[in-house]
Amino acid sequence: MNFADLVLRNGKVVTMDNEESIKQSIAVKFGRIIDVGTNDDVEPYVGNETKIVELNGRTIIPGLIDSHSHFINTGSERKIYIDLSEEIGVNSISDIQAILKEKASKTPKGEWIFGYQEDDSKLQEKRHPIRTELDEVSLEHPILITTIGGHFWMANSKAFEIAGVNKNSPDPTGGKFDRDPETGELTGGLHEEAYNLLRPDGPPKPSREQAYIGAKQILEECASVGITCIYDLVTETEIRAAIDLKNAEELPVRVRMDINIDLLDELGKLGIYRGFGDDWLRISGLKFFFDGAISARTAAVSEPYLNKPNFYGVMSTTKEIATEVLTKAYERGYRISAHANGDRAIKMYLDIMEQLQRKYPRKDPRNRDIHCSVINDHLINRIKELKILPTIFGSYAYYHGDKLLPAFGEKRLDSMFAANSFLTAGLKISAHSDHPCSPYQPLMAIHSLVNRKTKNGKPIGQNQKITVIEALKLYTINAAYHSFDEDKLGSIEVGKLADFVVLGEDILTVNSEKIIDIPIDMTIIEGNVIYTR
Ligand SMILES: [Zn+2]
Repeated sequence: MNFADLVLRNGKVVTMDNEESIKQSIAVKFGRIIDVGTNDDVEPYVGNETKIVELNGRTIIPGLIDSHSHFINTGSERKIYIDLSEEIGVNSISDIQAILKEKASKTPKGEWIFGYQEDDSKLQEKRHPIRTELDEVSLEHPILITTIGGHFWMANSKAFEIAGVNKNSPDPTGGKFDRDPETGELTGGLHEEAYNLLRPDGPPKPSREQAYIGAKQILEECASVGITCIYDLVTETEIRAAIDLKNAEELPVRVRMDINIDLLDELGKLGIYRGFGDDWLRISGLKFFFDGAISARTAAVSEPYLNKPNFYGVMSTTKEIATEVLTKAYERGYRISAHANGDRAIKMYLDIMEQLQRKYPRKDPRNRDIHCSVINDHLINRIKELKILPTIFGSYAYYHGDKLLPAFGEKRLDSMFAANSFLTAGLKISAHSDHPCSPYQPLMAIHSLVNRKTKNGKPIGQNQKITVIEALKLYTINAAYHSFDEDKLGSIEVGKLADFVVLGEDILTVNSEKIIDIPIDMTIIEGNVIYTR
């Protein structure tokens, strides 16, 4: 008899197959599912060596897939930067000083100290710390702090001294140093290009070891919330960290890499494109940016923001540049994963893809629109015609909803993160956290998609509510489809890889307002239990 390595029995198996069938037990051998059925069906696979997981009626779902994120980068940044956010309890400038002082006491003199996620609106003083306050932390370590949205930094005297910048230095083109209006003395603030004068070699880069450890830690956190596969935006540092982890057999979850399109020439020279890799680590598409962000309220929209008259968001490219870059990528066979948030940006993306697909037709293109946040019926029809796959923000209605309301307005939110409209149109959409832009818990996202209520309980875009099964689709079978993995991942069916999540409560019957609180009991990848509560 062909005994199984692992049997999970007596549960409620939400298979996510085409019939949305519910089964009882699963048998796994060599990391793949060899049977799914009743307890009796699976019983013959139990041998002496078989590991048994008694589900005791608990619900088990396919491993969850986050379809766009910056996990590996975030993991390695955590190794370099000191967190100064409100989330870790920073409420004042003296809190910032205390945290940095602690770090300085453990850092060799002369070495840089980097803080990030500083948010003046969350400080009692309602302002950023100034140079002299950072000097109180240390005069022997250069200190540089990044604000939460980027674009503005603060430095101490040592940092200015190393850079050779003083009160007589002129402001750089496209940048500015904050100065005392009377004395002209530097007060520590750096705007835009001024950063490059303090850091001519750019932002700090993690060492190979820092990237490795940082990536491992954050991907283990992913596994602990039920994520078994991520799509991650990567460049050289992140790719190397992922390969290092895989070679050491320590990669916690599967990774699909969307590579920054800046690396197109290098990849092109090697002839490497989508499909390169294996079930653990594989190249997906090339990431190109069209416009601003939803959480920063800078997405390029066709009607102005309600709280900023005449502000239509920002495009981060022109049609000419985008056409040139995407043409170069498309003619070489790359799949496009474009960040296009607002309806203006989405339209530009679609216009370009229409030309490209005419010129270089593909049967099964699977180009993606990452975010695809603000839409209308006309855009949905074009997305469908062009076979673009949108992946939408999962948790935003819940997590960012309260601050989005005054900027976008209730009416526009009816057509944002438009899960129901896309599904009704028959599109295989997926969803994502875009971590660190929102928390990575997929159950928060499913909660948000199902309830469409803000954290404060205000309903937004209720017409876009979807069912729990539909929301699960976005995190399982549809997400698998986005990287040609639909025959291997995304559902619990014979022949597929054994990636599962055991839930502490039944997601199909629990009060929908409680989905976010369901505990993750166990995460299994390729038949191995990698997390237990
Ligand atoms: Zn992103």
